[in-house]
Amino acid sequence: RKPVIAIDGFSSTGKSSISKVIAEKLGLIHMDTGALYRGITYFALQCCKNEKDNIDLQKLISNLNKINLEFREDNGMLVLFLNNTDISSEIRTPEISENVSLIATLPEVREFLLHTQRSIAEKGGIIMDGRDIGSIVLPNADYKFFLTASIDERTKRRHLELLSLGIKTDAASVKENLILRDKTDSERTIAPLIQAKDAILIDNSQLTKKETTQLILSHIKT
Ligand code: C5P
Repeated sequence: RKPVIAIDGFSSTGKSSISKVIAEKLGLIHMDTGALYRGITYFALQCCKNEKDNIDLQKLISNLNKINLEFREDNGMLVLFLNNTDISSEIRTPEISENVSLIATLPEVREFLLHTQRSIAEKGGIIMDGRDIGSIVLPNADYKFFLTASIDERTKRRHLELLSLGIKTDAASVKENLILRDKTDSERTIAPLIQAKDAILIDNSQLTKKETTQLILSHIKT
């Protein structure tokens, strides 16, 4: 049986891109669970704004049954579809990043997404990255890692990533969003961002993506 690997940690520690490389090397499926929360946020911004232009959370909760969020496999990659539309690039905008952590505090949303996440992992052979994978979603994962890095290093990485997507923004607002998101993610009462007891902690402030990948791979017996 191929391994089940959980990668959690702070925003912009490279969780998703590193998980993708590891998945390719070990022949696993990679699931970026942050994309699911972003997908719900994308839906919420379309369906459920109130007159003050904020998301009406109660309205979102009562509309969750209208959401069909699924990953479809395309050449070994999972592509996110919302009600049959590919939304993989739409979910990367700053507007989504600014709203997603609030949406992720809702117990109804987390419960709704739990099934999607667990059912894909049932067969094994998966690396899943997020905030609560080792602690809540897959507590019996074969390997658990928790990634962290300094805020300045993470700001630099996120800023570059956004620029490469053609999204123009300044470093100060990138940093502000990361700090706010980490705070909301760590302080929420349900499934907060914490290091699972049996997770291996990696601070990759001084490591390249390749070095972090090697370090993780060195723990995995194949
Ligand atoms: O990983 P990414 O930065 O795309 O995640 C976006 C947001 O989704 C996080 O800031 C967090 O609020 C939420 N999230 C979560 N639990 C996960 C994955 C993401 O609450 N497992």
